[in-house]
Amino acid sequence: MSYGLARVSGSSPQAREIAALAHSCAQQVQQVWPEPWSGNIHIEAPATDTEYRRLTGAPPGQHSGIAATTLADVHPDGRASNIRVVLDPEVWAELTAQGRRVILTHETVHVALLQHPRGPLPTWFVEGMAEYLAYLDSGLEVAEVAAPLLQRVARDGPPDRLPTDAQFTGDDRAEVYAQAWIACQVAVRLAGQEAVLRSLIGPAAQRQGQNGTSQPLPLSTRRLTNAWRAELQRLAPDSGAGA
Ligand SMILES: [Zn+2]
Repeated sequence: MSYGLARVSGSSPQAREIAALAHSCAQQVQQVWPEPWSGNIHIEAPATDTEYRRLTGAPPGQHSGIAATTLADVHPDGRASNIRVVLDPEVWAELTAQGRRVILTHETVHVALLQHPRGPLPTWFVEGMAEYLAYLDSGLEVAEVAAPLLQRVARDGPPDRLPTDAQFTGDDRAEVYAQAWIACQVAVRLAGQEAVLRSLIGPAAQRQGQNGTSQPLPLSTRRLTNAWRAELQRLAPDSGAGA
């Protein structure tokens, strides 16, 4: 079934409300996207775990705990087709309305990025910006969402460097996503939202950092890292920074 920008397939009985939500998330991303984007989004909403595993090829018996995953056929030239967001019906059912909107907006950012070919970006930047846009109008506070990370920072201090790509698949990936999210908040504060979004969607040639490495942003890795570590420290509970 279709609703505005969204198309939903699969046998979920909630297809209509999922389509309405996905349409709204696509509009939200479209509004801030610094270049025209169609906003077209395809959601696969299975009704059962069996249907979900058939769509994703996930092995039975173990649950990732991930409510939504963006999949695509990526071609050798970097183009992607058959871009779709697959919902895990069991995890999805446990989310609040607010949680569903955050997750679907995050995946919408992946869809928009996949619809335009681009060179490789560091994972912290892609996931951090997906989180940034997902939480932008959510009304949720960073201290609340990132509480486990901030408690760790209060205990052990901030990490020395921005998360590596490999950290995003580790056991403490929720904290790593929060690290990336806060790094992108800081980048937006320093460079402006539009400039940061342009770095995210621009062609690889425009994203060469000052030293020609993987730093895609219009500010140096060192400046961003220092500001990010200071922000983590400021946000950490009992840091003496006051309420
Ligand atoms: Zn993501």
